[in-house]
Amino acid sequence: MFQGLKIAVKRQKKLLAIFFVTIFLPSVILSIFGIIALRNEKFRVEKQIENEQLQIANSIKDRIETKFTEIGERLENLASYPAFRQKDYTVIKELITGLFEKDSLASIIFLLYNNGEPVFSLFRTGSEENAGRPEPVYDSFLQQQIKDAEDAEYIRNDYLTAASIYNDAFRQSGNKIIKARMLNLTARNLMKAGKFNEAADVYSRIINDYPDERTEAGLPLDLYAKIQMTECYSMPGDKGSAVGNDLTVFEELLVNRWNLNESRFKTYASIVIERLTGLLSDSALESTEYLSRFEELEKRYHYRTEQWETIGNIRSYIVPELPGYFQTGSRSPSPFEFSKRVGSEDYLVLAAMIPGQSQLDNAGILAAKLDNLYLQNNILTNAVEEIKPLRNTAIYITTLSGDSIKGSKNNNPDAVTTTSLFDNNFPPWRLELTYTGPKGLGEISIFSNFYFWTIITLIIILVFGAALIARIVAREMEILKIKSDFVSSVSHEFKTPLTSMKSLTERLEEGKVTEPGKMKQYISIIANDIDRLIHLVSNILSFSKIEEGKKIYKKEKTDIVIWLKEVINNYKKENIESGIIINVQLDNNMPALHIDRDAMAQAIFNLLDNAAKFSRGKKEAEVTAERKNYSIIIKVKDKGIGIENDEKDKIFEKFYRGESALKYLIKGTGLGLALVKYTVEAHNGHIDVDSESGWSTVFTITLPVSDKK
Ligand code: ADP
Repeated sequence: MFQGLKIAVKRQKKLLAIFFVTIFLPSVILSIFGIIALRNEKFRVEKQIENEQLQIANSIKDRIETKFTEIGERLENLASYPAFRQKDYTVIKELITGLFEKDSLASIIFLLYNNGEPVFSLFRTGSEENAGRPEPVYDSFLQQQIKDAEDAEYIRNDYLTAASIYNDAFRQSGNKIIKARMLNLTARNLMKAGKFNEAADVYSRIINDYPDERTEAGLPLDLYAKIQMTECYSMPGDKGSAVGNDLTVFEELLVNRWNLNESRFKTYASIVIERLTGLLSDSALESTEYLSRFEELEKRYHYRTEQWETIGNIRSYIVPELPGYFQTGSRSPSPFEFSKRVGSEDYLVLAAMIPGQSQLDNAGILAAKLDNLYLQNNILTNAVEEIKPLRNTAIYITTLSGDSIKGSKNNNPDAVTTTSLFDNNFPPWRLELTYTGPKGLGEISIFSNFYFWTIITLIIILVFGAALIARIVAREMEILKIKSDFVSSVSHEFKTPLTSMKSLTERLEEGKVTEPGKMKQYISIIANDIDRLIHLVSNILSFSKIEEGKKIYKKEKTDIVIWLKEVINNYKKENIESGIIINVQLDNNMPALHIDRDAMAQAIFNLLDNAAKFSRGKKEAEVTAERKNYSIIIKVKDKGIGIENDEKDKIFEKFYRGESALKYLIKGTGLGLALVKYTVEAHNGHIDVDSESGWSTVFTITLPVSDKK
């Protein structure tokens, strides 16, 4: 097999060389170029994706940084007002409220003077408002009046008298603070006496005429009066007004109307909350808009308490570091950015310098602590949503310590990914943009790619070329095998009669055979062998003539019956020793046909020869000929080994030898039936086979009557 392949390849050397040079080599080279080009294309597209991602990251960062710059500019602008240098808190508070009250991002504004305590503009964090304000002088007459009133109130429980004494004192005093305090005491006693309407009137007076005065303990009388007003409404049963009033108080607490410190703020807020909860549990008020307003205010209250906590943290962690950081340089011009991790939160602070007397001096810092939640949920979310289109891009944002802020991690390690940080790590976030489009070659629309189709075409050419070459080589191998099989079978065919002839002639030559009968028998065997050889040779010669197209048929008008009888007789004579019995049945009414008698005789001869060869045991054949319509039908039947169905088409091919022929070592060349077919077809006829494997075979030759040639 391998040897055969080698020889076949050798024979087709030229073809292979042509294939190699004109198809294989160029295809491989072009394919390599194509692959390189595809790879470059991939890199190019990846680069493009990276650039797009970078652009997206930059615009997200830009949008956020713009907000910072804007706040920073506002701070800087504000800090340049002289009020900041002069520590004029009233003006400062107004300025800050004006510029920042509605700002959800810059949630806590604070001032930090050199070597001073921080001042949280919208919060009071330390000393009371009364500090620094002189206490009024209570003269002896006033003191006596207060003592009388207290006696009436506490000893005799005569509240109306107490109220009228305090009211007198109010009228007689010329001092604003004293007047306000006396009004407050009057109202308290009126309440104790159950005169709620009158008490309410007095409290309204405090609210209207003395809104800024305080008790000795520093508590704003305005707040106190408002808190009491609710009682004045609720005691006589006007719960609606009571709730309305308390809600207003709550709101004012939240906007820091009275500049309370943390503990006072919480105390009063909890009084109001508790009272409102009680009042609103009344079914009459349950479904009113009061309830929703209350809920809204409670939310703000929680936010505020959180801010208090934040302020505590700013005091402890940010304030000590900020000034040093501010002065030691590394400050960006505007805004000055500072971030520090406090607990689980990154505190982001923007700050501006408060200019001092001279240009070089600075008096302190005006700073804004940013609200992280607002930054993440609003500013960042909007920034991400505004970047469109986010085609095939997943955005994942984390803190520098890896806590997720937005999006989720893309887990495909091969995807093109770009990470980006903010300038100065402010905010200390990390943006990770990942390509989520098709995998592998990624964005390359591979099917519209020229190189891709070139490679595919080349591969197809290669495959077809290779298949063609393989077919040619296989065919060459087949021919080689047929040739060698043919040579070996022909040699065998020759060898048998030649060997027998040799031994017979030797014996005759030696004169050992003297008996005339025996001699005659010997000579007849030799003559038969010679006939066989002649038959064999003529088969081969005819075949090669036909193959070369040189065969000429000499057709003569022939009486089929006479001719067929002669052919059969000749066959019998030459093949006596085969022992075949041939029955003949011929229709005497057959018309004469134009045939090449020798060629057709050879065909009938081959069919009879096969009948003899492929019969085992008793050899019996039957030859019939009859006219059917416009045809003469000649049949050669035998009762031999038969032909398998799948071989019926192949047996007429040249050199084809059946499985059983090979299995039973029946001699032959595989040319017999091919020759019969050629000959019959040359007479415009056709041959068919019908066989029952193991039992019988019938070959039918059909020749047209009308053929006059
Ligand atoms: P050969 O006889 O030399 O093998 P042929 O061309 O005459 O070649 O026949 C081809 C094959 O057809 C045979 O090898 C055999 O398998 C099959 N064949 C032909 N004639 C018969 C028959 N009468 N009975 C069974 N098989 C036959």
